[in-house]
Amino acid sequence: MSQKGILIVFSGFSGAGKGTIMKELTKRYSHTYALSVSATTRKPRLGEAEGREYFFKTQEEFEKMIEKNQLIEYARYVENYYGTPRAYVEEQLNAGKDVILEIEIQGALKIKEIFPQTLLLFVTTPNAAMLKERLIGRGTETMDVISARLKRAWEESQGIENYDYLVVNDDLERCVEEVHSIICSEHKRVARNQDFIRNLREELCP
Ligand code: ADP
Ligand code: 5GP
Repeated sequence: MSQKGILIVFSGFSGAGKGTIMKELTKRYSHTYALSVSATTRKPRLGEAEGREYFFKTQEEFEKMIEKNQLIEYARYVENYYGTPRAYVEEQLNAGKDVILEIEIQGALKIKEIFPQTLLLFVTTPNAAMLKERLIGRGTETMDVISARLKRAWEESQGIENYDYLVVNDDLERCVEEVHSIICSEHKRVARNQDFIRNLREELCP
């Protein structure tokens, strides 16, 4: 069966658990998935490392990347730039990996426009109270930034219908397996297996 890599967008409200889920998913299935590392002008959080969570850039450096067409997409999110470096994504897709972009909704819509076959997943907490609780519990942002992110969550919730699947991050273990199983099913779509079908037909041809 042909196993070309799928481009996957993984979005969700800040604090919904995107980073936590991706870390676990890529650890469990390290040969299957390649997680794209974005560039950002946001300052590193405690424990974040250059080139692991993000490539941390100054505004000037980021704008140079835009000029040189080194980003597939980029967006502004709560006063910072975030963007997806082009080279890694193309390289990993060509190598047959499923490439995951953990990006916000404006970027997701741009990716869908450029690559219509992209699989779009949206993750949320079971309810809004739990989202606030997790954002506060993470302890990485000031209350002002948390408020801005919660306001942004309301705006982003208006765009959920643009996605293919909605995943609820209640129990982490179940959620990680659910994401993996959605992606596995996506590989079985007839539309994604045209080469296999063509070969089969050639073999069957009397
Ligand atoms: P995001 O990347 O979407 O902003 P994080 O992955 O940083 O979110 O998760 C936000 C906080 O919620 C973190 O402190 C994380 O440890 C916690 N968290 C994530 N998933 C769960 C879960 N299923 N149950 C309880 N806490 C969780
Ligand atoms: P955080 O500051 O919490 O790491 O990320 C803030 C938001 O930016 C999240 O919704 C995250 O998914 C999004 N994001 C991270 N990288 C990119 C990117 O390369 N492009 C876009 N459009 N959004 C991104």
